[in-house]
Amino acid sequence: MKAIACAAMVSAASIASLTSSSWAHEIQLPDSFDDLALIEIAPGIFVLHGMQAMPDPANNGFMSNSGVLLTERGVVIIDSGGSAEVAAAMLDRIAILTDAPVIAVFNTHVHGDHWLGNAEVLRRYPGVPIFAHERAIERLQGGEASAWAAIMGGLTDRETSGVEVSLPTAGLSGGETLAFDSINLVVHHTGHAHTDSDIMLELPGQKIVFAGDVIEYGRAVSSDVPADFSARGQIEAIDYLLALNVELFVPGHGPTGDREIAEASRDFLQTLYASVERHYEEGLLDYEMRDLVAADLRAYSDWANFEELGRLISYVYLQVEEAAWD
Ligand SMILES: [Zn+2]
Ligand SMILES: [Zn+2]
Repeated sequence: MKAIACAAMVSAASIASLTSSSWAHEIQLPDSFDDLALIEIAPGIFVLHGMQAMPDPANNGFMSNSGVLLTERGVVIIDSGGSAEVAAAMLDRIAILTDAPVIAVFNTHVHGDHWLGNAEVLRRYPGVPIFAHERAIERLQGGEASAWAAIMGGLTDRETSGVEVSLPTAGLSGGETLAFDSINLVVHHTGHAHTDSDIMLELPGQKIVFAGDVIEYGRAVSSDVPADFSARGQIEAIDYLLALNVELFVPGHGPTGDREIAEASRDFLQTLYASVERHYEEGLLDYEMRDLVAADLRAYSDWANFEELGRLISYVYLQVEEAAWD
């Protein structure tokens, strides 16, 4: 379960570079908003790794990963971050790298930590197309956008200043290829996984996939909204990604790494699901099996949000129960 990359390059530098030989080291996630940095994982392909933290006023909701692609036509952003402050800091770092404008934004799914930075990107680059799965657009327009603004705004103490919301408008359904000269982006959607609105973006030329929260490494999965996920769907989605011709996996949370981070993310879910299923068959209720499931998952006990396992078990229990009736 090793993650890859190079700790020394992450800390104070706003821009870092990795060569393939340095992947034997480990990426260290930032400890504070001031550590926000773009890490080059392949020529012209950067990852902004978020903190392993809950959103609060000091970190400005800086908790999820973003991708930055420098193409001949301009800059492409994958997930704009959890606040205007995150997006602003990311755009400032990008401006050190290039004078080129942002020409497209992708939001990997409906959760607010991945798209609340859209408004700041649009403020600086009016008219930029923002892509997302059509189901994400539908859900956000249906009221979830303002709910996310209230949740993230509350946690980061922005209630009085307000949280500006800009929604994706360019709908995707999976199967599309978007060409940005030397970089092709292939859009994957495998149905209900982390949410029912996930897109996973593959760069076949670079053998990289931006998985969104379908892969979360070092974090008890889907803790942002556990009710939203399908354990079995997410396991299938990760297996789908592992079958692609990809070498680097960028998770929605946690360090970028090789296939081992995808496998660990899947194995956590598989162990969780199998454990809940076994104890369900023994006749235990969700709250009665908590300690037994935690024991089965002890290899992951240092993962963030592990203390919220009870909540996760409740949702998986419902899924196991539903599957038993199929
Ligand atoms: Zn997330
Ligand atoms: Zn999410």
